[in-house]
Amino acid sequence: MECHYPPSMEKINREIEAHIHKNKDLAQLFELYKKVLNAQLDYLNEIHVSVNLSEEEIKNCFRNGQYLMSKQKFDVDVDLFKNIFLSLCKAIKKASPGAPDSLQQLCDAEEFETDNLKELLDKIKLFSKQKLEDFIKNREMDKKTGVDGEIIVFVFFSALSPFYSLFMKEVRKIVDFSLWRRGYCPVCGQTAVIAKHRSEDGARVLHCWLCHAEWVYPRLVCPYCENKDQKQLRFFYVPGDKSRQVHVCEKCKKYLKTIDMKITQKDVHLDVEAIATGYLDIVAEREGYRAPDEAALLN
Ligand SMILES: [Zn+2]
Ligand SMILES: [Zn+2]
Repeated sequence: MECHYPPSMEKINREIEAHIHKNKDLAQLFELYKKVLNAQLDYLNEIHVSVNLSEEEIKNCFRNGQYLMSKQKFDVDVDLFKNIFLSLCKAIKKASPGAPDSLQQLCDAEEFETDNLKELLDKIKLFSKQKLEDFIKNREMDKKTGVDGEIIVFVFFSALSPFYSLFMKEVRKIVDFSLWRRGYCPVCGQTAVIAKHRSEDGARVLHCWLCHAEWVYPRLVCPYCENKDQKQLRFFYVPGDKSRQVHVCEKCKKYLKTIDMKITQKDVHLDVEAIATGYLDIVAEREGYRAPDEAALLN
């Protein structure tokens, strides 16, 4: 399996055009996605990451179900992180004029002083989205800045993503992820929320929204609770598009959006698909299933 990071903007733009053509309501969300992605890609050349673990150490982590960032000390360049963070705030404000003006003053918060930020970035490695949001609420960062906690979380993870993705790419040069059999990412530990069925052999490939790692996971097992009872696993789709599916587990009540590339007959970008299939989240939640990213990161 090849590594698809960084993505081709040309291909992404083409896919986005096709989605907006079918559903105009997606235009604003995709405008935001493109602005954020461009801001991230602008910094790729300035980011330097290195893997301190040997091939054997990495493989041992994978065999034990330990994701690498829980093991390796991973230092994010704090000043560079701040620059990316600020640039993302500007990009978000541009794409969504309704966003609060104070967004651009977020970096003035005490959490962004160098020592505090170092400590915080080190903690975030073990945080899910929900946990970071709770942390922000506890620290009253949202109240003090006038920016919604969910937006702050979004900017944080968007600013971290290029660091994590380049780290994933370096890891991928040393080993592939074939030893890894979990519902969370082998590199950064985030829970997969979207998957594809590969066109060549139909294997299910889980995708990490944060570092862009992709790894194979058995189709007949729930990636969140490892339930194998076929009577409790099923999938559905919205009539008219059989390629975009929701796979659900009756045991843990979680769902996984899945794009079947045997049906789409082309390799689509899963970050773009995650946005384009927002209607599937609504259907799944209405049917009583929960988004998997609520899961705890460490178990
Ligand atoms: Zn990851
Ligand atoms: Zn389950």
